[in-house]
Amino acid sequence: MYIPDSRELHEECGVVGFYGVDHAATHAFLALQSLQHRGQQGCGMATVDPSGQILLQKNAGLVKEVFTQKDIENLPGTSCIGHVRYPTTNVGGQENIQPFLFSRLGGPFALAHNGNIVNAEQVKKYLEKQGHLFRSTSDSELFAYLIGTTMRQANNWEARITRAANLLDGAFATVILTPHALYACRDKYGFRPLSLGKLGSGYIVASETCALETVGAEWIRDVEPGELLTIDQKGVHSSWHSRTGLHKMCAMEYIYFARPDSVIEGCSVHAFRKQSGRLLQAEHPADADLVTCVPESSMSAAMGFAEASHLPLEMGIIKNIYVARTFIQPTQSMRSVGVKMKLSPVTSIVKGKRVAVIDDSIVRGTTSKLLVQMLREAGATAVHMRIASPPYAWPCFYGIDTGTSDQLLASGRSLQAISDFIGADSLGYLSVDALYKASGRTQLCTACFDGGYPTELYQEPDNK
Ligand code: SF4
Repeated sequence: MYIPDSRELHEECGVVGFYGVDHAATHAFLALQSLQHRGQQGCGMATVDPSGQILLQKNAGLVKEVFTQKDIENLPGTSCIGHVRYPTTNVGGQENIQPFLFSRLGGPFALAHNGNIVNAEQVKKYLEKQGHLFRSTSDSELFAYLIGTTMRQANNWEARITRAANLLDGAFATVILTPHALYACRDKYGFRPLSLGKLGSGYIVASETCALETVGAEWIRDVEPGELLTIDQKGVHSSWHSRTGLHKMCAMEYIYFARPDSVIEGCSVHAFRKQSGRLLQAEHPADADLVTCVPESSMSAAMGFAEASHLPLEMGIIKNIYVARTFIQPTQSMRSVGVKMKLSPVTSIVKGKRVAVIDDSIVRGTTSKLLVQMLREAGATAVHMRIASPPYAWPCFYGIDTGTSDQLLASGRSLQAISDFIGADSLGYLSVDALYKASGRTQLCTACFDGGYPTELYQEPDNK
């Protein structure tokens, strides 16, 4: 039976890389499982075996489904990169599962990345004119081809990657594995997180610090926007493909995508969410008997909201984590079925009560509408929706699957119209200012809330 995911927003990827670590593939297997929330469609690993050959295995499915003990034993070596992936609306094919392995293009090398390149079409046309034929629709292949085309101009890997990164605009946190080194770089805006850690005498890079914790690594620092790390026998060497001073971390990483036990650029995700809940209560208090939340990403914000409002935090909604899952792209109608299969109100808690429901975001509105309906059917006398993010009104071009503007409930609608659509007694959203306060940052990407895209888009946003 087809049971779609009830989550309305999807991160597209998570990456890890290891260098100088015994049984690197075993560690990558564990680290990738801790990043599984960033992508469930497919995963892969590439290692350098003792003879210097790069070995690759990847497939559709969860990490624990794709790799058996035997598979991991067949990926020997002390360096490895790995990837988990979620399909976007346009690209979900097997051919897009990463890492990619390139034996020509000055290779061999393997590459995996998280994010979305906004000038991909322009760069692709340029490369196609030079005779390159693309096997996938992934931006990673684009990155790799650019590395290949710089062979004539640059005589070492660092220079090649730097030149390639300079030609790309948009979001990327990328790991590249060659027989002799691991490279890790972030785009010049710093949209996607990437951290560096020490593991024994070797190193790890990973999209989130929860992966470092899982394998027992010690966090060293974050890879900076525009930075390229070279990790080889000499240790870690830093260089820059671009230095802009920008730190436009995706606000949705804090709000929704990242695991609460991760720390992104010095800010604990759980602490951010709890503080955003407190600020949400200050901005939009609710006349309620209890606070509940949409499990699980809203839990930290609900804790902050309940604490600030001196109301009990109750488990008014439960999530069925055992619902079957497929890799077929969800459709709108099937999403409704998915919500009902995954989320259920707890009648004994909400019956006869005025309920403040904390959610992290409203994207298409399907989940919120059904939840309000289910809570009323369970006997709630009032449902006050409080959203721990600003209205999500603009599509993301940096690697988050949002769909188009016409699928975003808040695009072109008033607060009252949104509240009427979901059927709530009242609705309140967190302000953009509160995101900065909760994170303690002065820079963030908040484009999906205010349309202030940090990059050129190379196309018009469709809600203009
Ligand atoms: S537009 Fe929104 S989802 Fe996309 S990177 Fe910016 S903050 Fe994140």
